[in-house]
Order: sequence, then structure tokens, then C-alpha cells
Amino acid sequence: MLGILHQAVPRYTSYPTAPNFSSAVDDAVYRSWLAGLAENATLSIYLHVPYCRDLCFYCGCNTKATHKQKPIERYAKLIAEEMAQIARYAGRHKVRYLHWGGGTPSILGADLLKFTAGELARHFDLAALVEHAIELDPRYLNPSLVRALRSIGVNRASLGVQDFNPRVQQTVGRIQPFDVVKNAVVTLREFGVVKINLDLMYGLPRQTVSNIQETVHLAHQLEPQRIAVFGYAHVPWFRAQQRLIDESELPSARERLAQATAAHDALVQLGYQPIGLDHYARSDDQIATAARAGRLRRNFQGYTVDDADALIGLGASAISRLPNGFAQNASDVGGYSRAVAAAKLATVKGISISVDDRIRGQIIERLMCDMAVDLEAIGDRFEIDVGSNFSDALAALDPLRDIGNLQIDGYRIRITDKGRPFARVVASAFDAYLKRNHTRHSPAI
Ligand code: SF4
Repeated sequence: MLGILHQAVPRYTSYPTAPNFSSAVDDAVYRSWLAGLAENATLSIYLHVPYCRDLCFYCGCNTKATHKQKPIERYAKLIAEEMAQIARYAGRHKVRYLHWGGGTPSILGADLLKFTAGELARHFDLAALVEHAIELDPRYLNPSLVRALRSIGVNRASLGVQDFNPRVQQTVGRIQPFDVVKNAVVTLREFGVVKINLDLMYGLPRQTVSNIQETVHLAHQLEPQRIAVFGYAHVPWFRAQQRLIDESELPSARERLAQATAAHDALVQLGYQPIGLDHYARSDDQIATAARAGRLRRNFQGYTVDDADALIGLGASAISRLPNGFAQNASDVGGYSRAVAAAKLATVKGISISVDDRIRGQIIERLMCDMAVDLEAIGDRFEIDVGSNFSDALAALDPLRDIGNLQIDGYRIRITDKGRPFARVVASAFDAYLKRNHTRHSPAI
């Protein structure tokens, strides 16, 4: 296989990507961006809770383990204070999408979830909310927690599954039999949280093609609206808990590709529509409709129909996207807490978006969402000559075209079914920062 296919490349949940953020964007810059939001700008809110009961070995999220309630209570109060500050600078805006992520956001428990939701409603206008989603750990769900979720308006839940195979679960430190997930799904539906996403993974230690196929079939029995299949990214230099994974048990690049392909084929056979790189949805789900209409978007949570004018990230490590650029909060809870307690915003880095970033960002987003892009249409929108701007990128894609991973017709690029797993590599040809930045990314597959 060509070396280009083994490149380590970003996941392109944003462009420019987070490793290119710098301290040039601080709380003063972020404050001015918030103040500059148009009065009628709509928002999407992401609320990060960086705590879990125990850490799964494969976890790549910004989270830490705790069994104490005090730090969680303190954190909820800080988030409320951060909301107040944002509203002070930006005014009261309509929120269209609300997403609780982590970590395990439900670790807040019923009372703090209600308190935090109450604070959100105090500082933002939630009357036009289209979607209210939360990431959940099925091992810690019970009817009273689900009742609380429903009472605050949650209407979509993402459950972490990874793999149902007990041997794989053992090696990644997360024991979660099928019945635990099934009970969680049944309880959520009973209380009216009817939209269910399941998150699966390939590339974990001891995983095989056949247990991935079995996991897909078991997941299908639970009738989720969406299934995501993420490739495990082994980055132990970045996430210390991954050092607990025995590298000799990790599948090779060839095995990872076979696993991703097996999951894809099984899901398509079961009737799911492939969405972008790693999501699958029932054809009546909003995300499937948006994909068919070319309206799919990509953000930090993956694929979405979120069309709000700005994204406000709340909590440690959360990233905000404003028309001017990206701003990220301190990743460590200590740094975040100190800033918010001192009545400051916790912004520590970010990046202003240039016109070139916007153009490349749109190209990369269309490739990641539609597996295709019309460079000329984007060039016309920005009044630039695509020939002189992107001849290097097109030349860099020649080897992928030669092996049938994509088709190039003039300035139209289409990633073939064979090339779909390598969409990130195709997108990376348009990333102007990649050559300058030596950050270590995860492999493309
Ligand atoms: S995978 Fe989820 S539950 Fe496990 S440690 Fe990471 S955030 Fe927590």
C-alpha cells in the first residue's frame, strides 16, 4: 500500500485544527468576539464535564476519575458562573442545539443536572431548542437519573458501547455486558428519550473482524437511530491511561482496515445509511436527510445538522467557534477553576480565522461530509482562482487517484467507496498548516 495511506492526519472536526491554536487568543480576544456577535445570532452550546467514575484504558477524552461529590458540585457552580460571564458579554441569545459531553456528564446526578439546566435557561433563551443531547455511560443509568434527564428536556442520548465482546471489554478496562446497554436503552425510551446513538469502536486490543460484526448485529437489535464507528487512536504520549493497553495486542494497520470495512459492510447490509467517515443512520434520521441534501456539517462532536451561527463551549477544555475564530478554555480543571473564580473567562488559546482558512475549511468540511467537493463552486463563492490556489493539493492527490481511491474531474473531487476510509488523508491535502506543524496525530485508519 502507498505510504500516503499510513500518514498520521487530523480528524478534521475543525479547520484550522486544535494543535494550531495559540495563546494569541486569550480571554480579552474571546470577550471581544462575544461582544461582536450579531444580536440575532443563534447559538449551539457544548457543556463539558471532565469527570468519570473510573477511566477506561482506551479513553482519549479530557476527563479524570473521581468518586467524590465535592469536586463535581464545585465544578457545576463554576460552569454556572462561566455562563453568566458569557451572557454578560454576548447578551441573551437563542440556543438551537445543546450538547452535554465529557467525561460522563450524568455524573452530575439528578440535582446538579437540574441546577445546571436551570442556569442555562436563566442566561440563554432555550425556547427554540431543536436538540438537547447528552453522552451517557450505560453502566451508571437508573430510572431516577433518566427521569431527571427527561425533565430538563434531553431528547437524544449517545451511549458508549465500543465492543460487546467480554475479552475485549476486559482488555480495555470497561466491563459492560449487552444486557446493561439494553436496560439503559429500554429505560431511556420508557421515559421518552427516544433518539438513541450508539458509539462503537474498532482497532481495540484483541478485537477481530468477527467480534466487530457480532457487535454491530447486537447494536442493531437495540434499534438505535444512529451508530458511530470510531477507530481507536492510540496516543499514549497524550493520554496516560492508554499506557495500560498492551501494544502487542493492538491490531495492525491492515487488520484495522479490515475491521472498519467489516463494520461498514455489516451496517450497510442492515439498512443504515453511511454518513461521512464514521457515522451510520437510519434513513429517516435528520442526519441522513441532511447528508442526502448536502447539508451535513462537521463539528467537535462529529457529524451534525447543527446550523447555529456560533458554538459556545462551556467547561474545562471546551472549544468555542465564533464567526471570528476558535477559542479554547484551559484543559486542566485547576486552570479553568482559577480563571472563572477570578471572574475571568478561562480562554487560554485559539486562532483567528483568515479568508484562506475559511476557504480551506469549507473544502475540508465538504470532503469529510459529502466525500466530494466542487472546488470551482467554492472558488466562485470566495472569488479566487482555484487553479493557482490548489494545483499543489490536486497534484498531491494523484497517487490516491491512481489507486482508485478518488476521482478527479476538472476541479471536482469525489472519494470512491474504496477510498472512504482515507477521507482524512484526502482532506489533509488542503490543510495549509499540516506541513508546518509537527504534532503527532493518530493514523488515518
Ligand atoms: S471512555 Fe467515556 S466513560 Fe470511559 S473514561 Fe472516557 S469519557 Fe469516561
